[in-house]
Amino acid sequence: RQEQFRALRTVEPRTRDGQDVNLQMNAGLLVDLPQLVESGASGIGLFRTELQFMIASTMPKVDEQEKLYRNVLRQAGDRPVTFRTLDIGGDKVVPYFRSAEEENPALGWRAIRLSLDRPGLLRTQLRALLKAAAGVELKLMLPMVTEINELRLARELLNKEVRHLSRFGHQLPRKMQFGAMLEVPNLLWQLDELMEAVDFVSVGSNDLFQFMMAVDRGNSRVADRFDPLSRPFLRALRQIVEAAERAGTPLTLCGEIAGKPLSAMALLGIGFRSISMAPAAIGPVKSMLLSLDLGKLEESLLAAISDTESGKTVREFLTDFADTN
Ligand code: PEP
Ligand code: MG
Repeated sequence: RQEQFRALRTVEPRTRDGQDVNLQMNAGLLVDLPQLVESGASGIGLFRTELQFMIASTMPKVDEQEKLYRNVLRQAGDRPVTFRTLDIGGDKVVPYFRSAEEENPALGWRAIRLSLDRPGLLRTQLRALLKAAAGVELKLMLPMVTEINELRLARELLNKEVRHLSRFGHQLPRKMQFGAMLEVPNLLWQLDELMEAVDFVSVGSNDLFQFMMAVDRGNSRVADRFDPLSRPFLRALRQIVEAAERAGTPLTLCGEIAGKPLSAMALLGIGFRSISMAPAAIGPVKSMLLSLDLGKLEESLLAAISDTESGKTVREFLTDFADTN
């Protein structure tokens, strides 16, 4: 199987009925970069910048951050990289960044909340990213956004850094794209505003699922208790797709479900055309979509998702579809 998947890396990810799909990979360290070519991913849909912070014993300095980002961009070459700003707190512990013990760290002082409260930290990272991307495209996204206003505040900090760098004669990125991760259910009721506020949206389905189901993703007692392929969650994802289409905002999804062939199939069926996953998942997911009649799936999956009468779970529906088509 491994060999079969390797052989697919130069094959275009196009469904049997001719629809193109964008398959990107998730990464977090420079050692992940060779996987770009090996896996055949079209780019890095999620670069977890907190990894550098988590493996360091002291806070990485601005030039260390810049060096990493520059190397990542250089090694990625023509393939786009989406950098996520620091997502620390919650399950992502940074030992030297001592914050008070929290009773519910997943709901606590983390990600963009922490970044906005420690603007020096975020500005340092933004400066490192801007400098590393001088003359090329910079795509960045903010994690754990709850309110649109957080995006405005983050964008102001970005603009300040841009002005600062240009005042000192630094070359700026050729193009900038500013995105948000959709991980907090609160955004589901302000999708139109969200889509207007950013250049792209990436669904963090691990956290979105955790918060929708009120299930700690790291607690093995409950983590697998509910099915991400259940109707309510898929309906939420479908609403996101519809809002993105209405606004013409590029949409992608970078949680674990993108890397499992059956759930990836569900994502395509509800309208996602771009997903980002662990590099090892690219082969199996591509193999699935090459034989997929997406038009046919789309029609029947949307019906299955809204069908409340059916005794079949959506997972059963998808398994049957995969077996018979
Ligand atoms: C997610 O929440 O789905 C995600 C991609 O981010 P992380 O797993 O790093 O929280
Ligand atoms: Mg997340």
